[in-house]
Amino acid sequence: MSDQNESFAENAPGKYYIVKTCIGCILCSEIAPENFSENTDEELAFGYNYVRKQPETRAEEQLCEEAMDVCPADAIRNNGKSN
Ligand code: SF4
Repeated sequence: MSDQNESFAENAPGKYYIVKTCIGCILCSEIAPENFSENTDEELAFGYNYVRKQPETRAEEQLCEEAMDVCPADAIRNNGKSN
């Protein structure tokens, strides 16, 4: 059984990461498309999002924070370290 706190292997290394509670609602990639992407692998029963790029500007960071706040699955995490 997979650990729901385990992060997806596709996450770009850095402080933000998405864990396996993600339900693939794509809200985060709509809010911060530079930083979050959908896994579109057609073999999956349902999709999930992952961090495709860590934020590089204050504006991107704010959008990542906003996505974290609205994620319905509490799946976006920030380990508090700098990138
Ligand atoms: S907002 Fe949360 S649940 Fe929705 S796709 Fe992003 S990480 Fe997954």
